[in-house]
Amino acid sequence: MPGQKNPRESQHPSGNVYRERLAYFEGRQSDLIGTIRELVEIESPSDNKPAADRMGALLAARFESLGGRVRIHRTADFADHIQADFPGASEAKPVLLLGHFDTVYPLGTLAQMPFRNASGRLHGPGVLDMKSGIAFMLYAIEALQSWHGALPRPVTVFLVSDEEVGSHSSRKITEALARKSAAVFVLEPAAAPHGAVKTARKGVGEYSLTIKGVAAHAGLDPGKGHSAILELARQIAVIAKFNDLAQGISVNPGVIRGGTRTNVIAAEATVEIDVRIKRAAQAAGLDRKLHALKPFDKHCRLTIEGGINRLPMERTSGVIALYRKAQAIAQQLAWKLDEAAVGGGSDGNFTAGIGIPTLDGLGGVGEGAHAIHEHIVVSEIPRRTLLLAGLIESA
Ligand SMILES: [Zn+2]
Repeated sequence: MPGQKNPRESQHPSGNVYRERLAYFEGRQSDLIGTIRELVEIESPSDNKPAADRMGALLAARFESLGGRVRIHRTADFADHIQADFPGASEAKPVLLLGHFDTVYPLGTLAQMPFRNASGRLHGPGVLDMKSGIAFMLYAIEALQSWHGALPRPVTVFLVSDEEVGSHSSRKITEALARKSAAVFVLEPAAAPHGAVKTARKGVGEYSLTIKGVAAHAGLDPGKGHSAILELARQIAVIAKFNDLAQGISVNPGVIRGGTRTNVIAAEATVEIDVRIKRAAQAAGLDRKLHALKPFDKHCRLTIEGGINRLPMERTSGVIALYRKAQAIAQQLAWKLDEAAVGGGSDGNFTAGIGIPTLDGLGGVGEGAHAIHEHIVVSEIPRRTLLLAGLIESA
């Protein structure tokens, strides 16, 4: 087999060993595609517990069949989260493989967007974000067991069901498992288009600003009303100035609602605002500015709600060290593995946010997450799975 039994040597496998291992995963490629297909064809929207629980049950069975001790974390509103603990040959702290099995696609999407293997790409809802990443976990664990007889170190797999809707029911468990782990590998999609791993993510928050004005008949009593819509428009102009792209702060008033009829001066209006920050230290300042908004029209009342949900995943020395390990593995295959900083958040923000070295974007390479053209590139599957196996070994 392409591994070696000497545990010292296994810390630093040579280029030859990696080429053999790549051949091993190329030999497993059709099985991997079969597994990805199986996962994609079970629809698992975040907001449909019975549907997503079917996905969770299948995953629990698959990880259990590899020798994982499965623990089901029950939740009332979302599918149960799945944890699988694997023993390892060493006493080292476990590494945490983190993923989610919910998707943004409502039940029935598969009919318009069926799994398809064409022109070197796999298509289907959730294939990139992030069912292929879960398949990589299964095959990396299986490979390490077959090369070494057992995993070289303990591994914890944690798969959540509510990542696409903010991870409110899984966050505490994710953080608790991360605290017990030496490193966290997040199997979210790689950065497009070349498959860079993600070493920094912006923090993400959501606010809503509600204006209460004074209604009046637009024709009979125009002077008596105080328009919540007019006030909202002025506030949005102020909020837009909070953007500071050079510092990595972006603020987007993305959804507005307000008013009832054209002949009524609007009594209420709301804006929902997406905010992104590059550094954790920026959260408080932005929050203060939003809470300090004052009405232009003294008869209007402002209420601001919300906050930062995910702090940024910052490119700490722990993150860089993991990236260097990933690069060293890639180099054995003459593969230049880049890193990327991205604006989107993931559960990696939570684990990095509490100081645990985290490397994200280790999943499939492709494009179109959350969109009709979502796909992964087939030829990238073997080396991505190999990279994960190598990282479990060397972290
Ligand atoms: Zn995702």
